[in-house]
Amino acid sequence: MPGFASIIDQKRPVRLLTAAILSGNLPHAFLFTGLEGTGKKTAATAFAMACNCIKLQKHSVNSSDKDIPAARLDNNVIEPCGRCRSCKKIISKNHPDIHIVKPAGDILKVDQIRELCRKLALKPNEARIRIAVIADAHRLNAEAGNTLLKTLEEPPEHTVFILTALQTSDLLPTITSRCQHIRFNPISRNSLQTYIENHFGLASGQASAIASMAGGSMTLAETMAKTNWLSRRNWIINEMETLPAQPINFCLAFAEALSKNKGWIFTAFEIMKNWLRDLAVFKDCPEKIINMDLSEKIKAASKQIPVGLLISKLQAIEKAERDIKANANLRLTLDALVIKLSKG
Ligand SMILES: [Zn+2]
Repeated sequence: MPGFASIIDQKRPVRLLTAAILSGNLPHAFLFTGLEGTGKKTAATAFAMACNCIKLQKHSVNSSDKDIPAARLDNNVIEPCGRCRSCKKIISKNHPDIHIVKPAGDILKVDQIRELCRKLALKPNEARIRIAVIADAHRLNAEAGNTLLKTLEEPPEHTVFILTALQTSDLLPTITSRCQHIRFNPISRNSLQTYIENHFGLASGQASAIASMAGGSMTLAETMAKTNWLSRRNWIINEMETLPAQPINFCLAFAEALSKNKGWIFTAFEIMKNWLRDLAVFKDCPEKIINMDLSEKIKAASKQIPVGLLISKLQAIEKAERDIKANANLRLTLDALVIKLSKG
């Protein structure tokens, strides 16, 4: 159920949102900033539910209670019920007064904002508090941004805007100044690991590797757990380990296989760098490796490769990354890279 308790590692945002509801003094607009996958959309849904829940649960908790949800304020916890008519409509995205506007392609267009403002000029259908979510507001073009600004300057009654963006600097200052800003920090590695273990049934070493690579994003960690990320990582590491003993044709076949998935190439580079980093780190701090589930393999490989060679391979990967970002020929760059990586 997408209530406040389901939001991971965002105690401060949840505290600010629940405090606003409990105070009865809601701002006209919030701006949620943070990386993709840190809980901004889930928080917007929980907030919309809590503002309109018919059976909002508000109760005191014992301060020794270890199981209290994050939404705690002066010993009060509020949580939407998740079962009433209003909550159900919001969960199923069928509530007539909860409006969500997302970019069409790369930008939020002025027509989308005009259409939203036209709906908001009418009275709410049934909601106590109408919510207008503008997702990825950093994609508002100038015209759309100015149209939104006019509405924020004279906000409709019983309406709260929630803008989401990566960072405040991506938005017009005239828009950010009209919003209460709430920052969502990256989710901790431990919280991601626990979540992945509990929800996807992965072993702790595998969940740890995913949590380390997800960069604080729940969305990314979930995608990695659901797809075959671990097996693709294993493929890359196995290829890297066998390259030094293989003829040149084998090395170039690896480069060709990598080049077939350009959308994934930078992830492949991250996997390669993390592997080499693990081999270096294991020598002194084995508990700090990223690929925790491969510790036995790392232990064996780490003994055989000098640090100087690890560094030169890392530099070769970083050069390939830079070259590809600068539009160098993909296949030729990868050919040169695998030949450097094949040095044993
Ligand atoms: Zn409810």
